[in-house]
Amino acid sequence: MKGIFPIEGFKAMETPFYYYNTELLRQTLSTINIEAGKHEQFRVHYAIKANANPKLLNIISHAGLGADCVSGGEIKAAIDAGFSRDKIVYAGVGKSDWEINIGIDNEIQCFNVESVPELEVINEIASARGKVANVAFRINPNVGAHTHANITTGLAENKFGIAMRDMENVIVLSLKMKNINFHGLHFHIGSQILDMGDFEALCNRINDLLCQLERHHIKVETINVGGGLGVDYRHPNRMPMPDFKAYFDTYAKHLKLREGQTLHFELGRAVVAQCGSLITKVLYVKEGATKKFVIVDAGMTDLIRPALYNAYHKIENITYDGEKQTYDVVGPICESSDVFAKAIDLDECHRGDLIAIRSAGAYGEIMASQYNCRRLPSGYVTEDIR
Ligand code: PLP
Repeated sequence: MKGIFPIEGFKAMETPFYYYNTELLRQTLSTINIEAGKHEQFRVHYAIKANANPKLLNIISHAGLGADCVSGGEIKAAIDAGFSRDKIVYAGVGKSDWEINIGIDNEIQCFNVESVPELEVINEIASARGKVANVAFRINPNVGAHTHANITTGLAENKFGIAMRDMENVIVLSLKMKNINFHGLHFHIGSQILDMGDFEALCNRINDLLCQLERHHIKVETINVGGGLGVDYRHPNRMPMPDFKAYFDTYAKHLKLREGQTLHFELGRAVVAQCGSLITKVLYVKEGATKKFVIVDAGMTDLIRPALYNAYHKIENITYDGEKQTYDVVGPICESSDVFAKAIDLDECHRGDLIAIRSAGAYGEIMASQYNCRRLPSGYVTEDIR
């Protein structure tokens, strides 16, 4: 065993595959429960989009978290994994009728609604089924986040949510609908946010919106602030968990919750990123004209974040301790963007060495594709490895 990985067990396994350290996942969940549990009105959901591996979902649902879903398929996955239906919320800018039906039939906690046409369809479908749907409105707070442009969601230019100026009219409209129960407000400003000041800015905006609604005697039961808490991709060993205390304390300090209101969080990346690694094998070490390439058997089809966001993942040779060499680590896909890292120092690599691409538990396995007719990577947890 080198470092934290059961290398002997890995040797018999077909690569590439995802490996999830369930001990770290359990510790992370326990820390979340302790830190959020200090605030009576706080409720934590897990954003299934980050990773829907059933073994992880099972552990997360057993820890008591609710589920944040963005498709009918995710609602089904959440129910199959044991999440309680009354702790499932469903967001998304384009919900199809069949997906709305799944939510209504299962009497989920809440639909996070993003437009008036969507509200009207939910009302119609709920009416046809003789049900009342709880809804929260996703408001676009026009709050920026210091993160990658592709994962910023709370700016006026983004497609998500209802503009603040329309908020009151939409709520008033919903209060007149027979099969809709207005529940609350929903926000999500982006992902991989490390600056607590961004969350503080969101709190300040929500405080203003709550005052505005109170002036018109509109009661808000739940406030959902989405997810977005980032992780330390550079130091997965030193910082295996984000600073959950600082995160929850920021909301406790800056958001002025009213009596009886609950505050919902929908954390994805912060829950699962650090427990997962993509394990891949060196196929070839190739001397290029100006540099050396390590060609591994995983590609952008298995982990797309570096190609999509230029995202950094720490990479380690977990088989061999040797002198450091500088390499570009690339996959076998026929795309120039199929690169995991450029000019990084790794213990000298040889054909057959196992390589760990760290912090890959979020937006990794779930985003895998079969481009180039490749196989999807398998996901294993600690208990699967002998
Ligand atoms: N909630 C919503 C509505 C989202 O769109 C997302 C991610 O895109 C999340 C929660 C989870 O975000 P994160 O993984 O950054 O915590």
